[in-house]
Amino acid sequence: MNFDLTEEQALIAKSARDFAARVLAPRAADRDVTGRFPVEELQELASLGLLGVTVPGAFGGSEAGTMAYSLAMTEIARADASVSVAMAVTNMAAELICRWGTETQKKAHVPKLVGGPYLCGAFALSEPQSGSDAAAMKTTATPAPGGYRIAGTKQWITSGTHAGLFVIWAKTNPGAASRGISAFLVEKGTPGLTVGKAEEKMGLHGSSTVQLHLEDLFVPEDQRLGREGDGFRIAMTALDGGRIGIASQALGIATAALEQSARYASERVQFGVPLAEHQAIRFMLADMSTALEASRLLTWRAAFLKDQGLPFTREAAMAKLYSTEAATRACDSAIQIHGGYGYTREFPVERYLRDARVGRIYEGTSEVQRMVIAREILKSGVLS
Ligand SMILES: Cc1cc2nc3c(=O)[nH]c(=O)nc-3n(C[C@H](O)[C@H](O)[C@H](O)COP(=O)(O)OP(=O)(O)OC[C@H]3O[C@@H](n4cnc5c(N)ncnc54)[C@H](O)[C@@H]3O)c2cc1C
Repeated sequence: MNFDLTEEQALIAKSARDFAARVLAPRAADRDVTGRFPVEELQELASLGLLGVTVPGAFGGSEAGTMAYSLAMTEIARADASVSVAMAVTNMAAELICRWGTETQKKAHVPKLVGGPYLCGAFALSEPQSGSDAAAMKTTATPAPGGYRIAGTKQWITSGTHAGLFVIWAKTNPGAASRGISAFLVEKGTPGLTVGKAEEKMGLHGSSTVQLHLEDLFVPEDQRLGREGDGFRIAMTALDGGRIGIASQALGIATAALEQSARYASERVQFGVPLAEHQAIRFMLADMSTALEASRLLTWRAAFLKDQGLPFTREAAMAKLYSTEAATRACDSAIQIHGGYGYTREFPVERYLRDARVGRIYEGTSEVQRMVIAREILKSGVLS
């Protein structure tokens, strides 16, 4: 693994860092309070080529690979995790269409996803009664002349209020468990697709998380992604890549927490010296920084493997597991370093903790990541 960034990777990271500092950081606290969805911010991300970093140029993407995507995601999340989650889901939707879609589907949807017209994408897998056990979904897609009629309810759908395109999973063969699931592409405004209750979340207030009601939703056959029954495999491979995005997001939030903590510890004086002079505080900073670097190495390794076309399921799960858990620990330490002020909105560290916490839940909980890692090491016999 080469630690030197290519010129293109460095350029994309810089472009994301500049945009985050100029546009995202100044209004992140405001979006947290108001819950305003970042419409203009996503439009600008699209115009900078940051919504489709891994997407081929032929479909409007930057074609810069997963390492570049990870770097960009880290920079965006460092300023505002809410914006980064919309970016992550859009990239995941675009990637999966590029991998599994027909040429017509790719041409019809991917440029609109990464270039702005759709604003962002949504990934509708979870349901009220099935999260970790996604194959237990109840939504059905019943054959109808020229296509399917979809019925069911999806839960926790990120960007569901604003997404221009939804990837929706449904059972085409309810008797066949995970092999009976198919994936469909559905544009916003299609009759039968309605947005339901919005969740009032602990964090990520600038991201919408909603229920979707699917009632007699007609989807033409040519909008089915892959073959009938491929859906579960499509979702799982997309989540493998998605986990690199979430690990990078956690890395970004932890970086912000460490930077803010080092700044505060250098300025705040107690017992006649800056907090940073007290060993207990220095040790917290050292532990945060060490965990951050370990997260970065795991995340970059997974990104590197994906870019090489090598298997990366285990490494992506490890990166996501470790980075999200390390980020919540780092944010908790950041609050401790800030004392009472850390528990208020005067400083951003309480937001960082609220935003980081969901990293251990979505795109597969920490427990699910451990299940994936254990399955992979037992299957391959590789223990290191
Ligand atoms: C803010 C937010 C955004 C989201 N965005 C999306 C989205 O865009 N699209 C989408 O499809 N979904 C989305 N999700 C859903 C998310 O992926 C699920 O919440 C997650 O997969 C967990 O499912 P669950 O909430 O039903 O919990 P459950 O599956 O009910 O799990 C509850 C607890 O039990 C544990 N558990 C479950 N099974 C096992 C087991 N076999 N062994 C050990 N422990 C187990 C879990 O780890 C967890 O701790 C989002 C969720 C949130 C909170």
